[in-house]
Amino acid sequence: MLRMKNISKIYRTELVETHALSDVNFTVEEGEFIAVTGPSGSGKTTFLNITGLLENFEQGTYELDGEDVSTLGDKQLSRLRNEKIGFIFQGFNLIGDLNLYDNIEVPLIFRGLSAKARKQRIEESLELVGLGGRASHFPAQLSGGQQQRVAIARALAGKPRFLLADEPTGNLDTLMARQVMELLEEINRQGTTLLMVTHDHELAQRAHRNIQILDGQLRDINKNELVELI
Ligand code: ADP
Ligand code: ADP
Repeated sequence: MLRMKNISKIYRTELVETHALSDVNFTVEEGEFIAVTGPSGSGKTTFLNITGLLENFEQGTYELDGEDVSTLGDKQLSRLRNEKIGFIFQGFNLIGDLNLYDNIEVPLIFRGLSAKARKQRIEESLELVGLGGRASHFPAQLSGGQQQRVAIARALAGKPRFLLADEPTGNLDTLMARQVMELLEEINRQGTTLLMVTHDHELAQRAHRNIQILDGQLRDINKNELVELI
């Protein structure tokens, strides 16, 4: 479903050029669960952001479902992103002033769904993450693990085929991290492709495939190597 060839990304400021990604080749098949590991500053977030069409790149080609994204303008990129991709972040990124229902509704309004369709998707997705009946609660009334489940519900409400998660368990204790991971695995089993950045070697082991980024270069790694690498 996704093919990157020779992708590079350079951040330029007045004083320095940072080669955040160098010559990345990467392919994802529908339904895969891939974990991305690597030290801080190695390029993981940049890689995820380019994959999610949130950031551009200088060189190379990137095809998503056969569409060459480098030929698309901002409007078409955001259409493609809305249609296909869901995001989950380490910090949940929920809006504190809005209850759970309204938090999940925001991106759906943005997508132009009718009020009726929005209601159905919000209720379905809250149910799926085990928070049905909590729609009128506010984020601060929930534990960290529950907040992350709301963020997952918000991503799923858009019915993405491709879920991108940047350290989704990074702010959670071990038990909650495991619950969130089990939910993500279940979502993957139901067919959603999952790409997850993690520092947690146990979680990375659960993926179908592991890749490592070191100094902007990406390589496939064997799971047995993970222990030494992370
Ligand atoms: P992580 O490995 O979880 O991305 P980091 O400590 O590397 O954690 O980065 C924390 C946050 O700061 C990330 O969201 C990352 O995108 C952002 N970040 C890292 N380096 C820079 C930078 N030079 N300029 C702007 N944002 C950055
Ligand atoms: P990671 O997620 O692995 O911590 P990042 O992708 O955040 O790594 O960063 C890769 C490199 O690019 C780092 O050297 C970081 O400082 C740099 N970088 C990231 N975002 C920016 C930015 N917006 N401007 C300049 N440099 C950045």
